[in-house]
Amino acid sequence: MSDPRRAIPAVEALLEATALAPLVERAGRERVTAVLREIQAELRERLAGRAGGEASPGGRRADARHIADPAWYAEETERRIERADRPSLRRVINATGVVLHTNLGRAPLAEAALQAVAGAAGYASLEYDLEGGSRGSRHGHYAGLLRELTGAGDALVVNNNAAAVVLALNTLAAGRSAVISRGELVEIGGSFRVPEIMARSGVRMHEVGATNRTHLADYRDALGPDVAVILKVHRSNFRVEGFTAEVPARQLAELADEAGIPLLHDLGSGALLDMTELGLPPEPTAASVLEDGAAVATLSGDKLMGGPQAGILLGRPALLRRMRANPLCRALRPDKLTLAALEATLRLYRDPARAVREIPTLRMLAASPDELAGRARALADRLEAAGVTAAAVAADSKVGGGAYPGAVLPSTAVAIDAPRVQDLARRLRLEDPPVIARVREDRLLLDPRTIAPAEEDALVSAVVRLFGEADE
Ligand SMILES: *Cc1c(COP(=O)(O)O)cnc(C)c1O
Repeated sequence: MSDPRRAIPAVEALLEATALAPLVERAGRERVTAVLREIQAELRERLAGRAGGEASPGGRRADARHIADPAWYAEETERRIERADRPSLRRVINATGVVLHTNLGRAPLAEAALQAVAGAAGYASLEYDLEGGSRGSRHGHYAGLLRELTGAGDALVVNNNAAAVVLALNTLAAGRSAVISRGELVEIGGSFRVPEIMARSGVRMHEVGATNRTHLADYRDALGPDVAVILKVHRSNFRVEGFTAEVPARQLAELADEAGIPLLHDLGSGALLDMTELGLPPEPTAASVLEDGAAVATLSGDKLMGGPQAGILLGRPALLRRMRANPLCRALRPDKLTLAALEATLRLYRDPARAVREIPTLRMLAASPDELAGRARALADRLEAAGVTAAAVAADSKVGGGAYPGAVLPSTAVAIDAPRVQDLARRLRLEDPPVIARVREDRLLLDPRTIAPAEEDALVSAVVRLFGEADE
């Protein structure tokens, strides 16, 4: 049999073929030429030494007939161009039930924040005083709101909370030491480890107490001329139970005051509202931490606050002024899109009921078990009616984002029974938009807590289509 490679048409001929004309028109001759060459190079390689064999560039079957068929090239080229043009960072449907899913971008923004981002995307009054027609400050957009909402003397926003902690430590204690309990030398999300952050901030770490117990006397004994700050880190992502002791923030603040040094409290999770109102366990709020005497508190914008990624410093004006004057502040500053989203999110907090209605993170956390059960049943019914084996089952959602370790939020999920469930999960991830689901005991779970009602139609049609294909 003759060499099958001889059946491959010349690129010039393919470019003139009717089947490729619309694609050449749309994507341009140069691009189509490049992709055709790529396809043919792969074909030749695969066919080499495999007389009459099959080649499958991009996983598609291509027998000798396809190799000569312009329509096949048109289809394959279009598929490759489409795939290359697809953005890498894309919207996804989060069906995992993990509200602050770190890998899926933590907090989804409120509609008001999205609009603010769109509004600020062009020219914006970022550092411009519209009244005076002169230079303004990018910090002016949020400082008043944060003072109003938390009772802080002043506020400063940087890129994320890790940056806030670095800026605070470096400003307040570079070249000196910070006292911290051994029970708070935490690691948050892999690369944020308190000891390393301290070292990089130029601060010596003075550990006191034991992993499970630290007393006020431990802190007191550590104080001396070298100590510039007492650091308290909120144990966001784990709990200690059993024989434990921790010094209440208020007592630490008093001790710091006596010594004439600031108490820096890294709150992390960043609640602005009383979380018990949402049915969650109590969590310190920004206001309560300041009320307890922290000189500076640091928190994330995209954890429980439900805003954009940002690090928020709250506290005494004189200390924050020093932080603004630190050259690191410039290196860590947020961009206009972040500030627009943050300002709009903070505005919603002026009316807490509105914040819970309109900030997706809060709304998802506050969703009642009844509401979620109703949505899961309705989704399961729609899927069943379309031939998918689905049922509403009890499931636990999670807060995620390193907040509320161990807290389970009772929910009801849609469980789908499919023969190859991991394969179904993978194919859902390759949908447009991708659907991220959980697999538990050979069933695919879709938790309505993190699925926006507006996403349900797309979700149902994707599941129905893929379930049908998996059956073939
Ligand atoms: C999450 C967290 C951080 C890091 O915040 P990012 O916004 O992720 O940079 C630091 N400290 C605590 C206690 C946290 O919970």
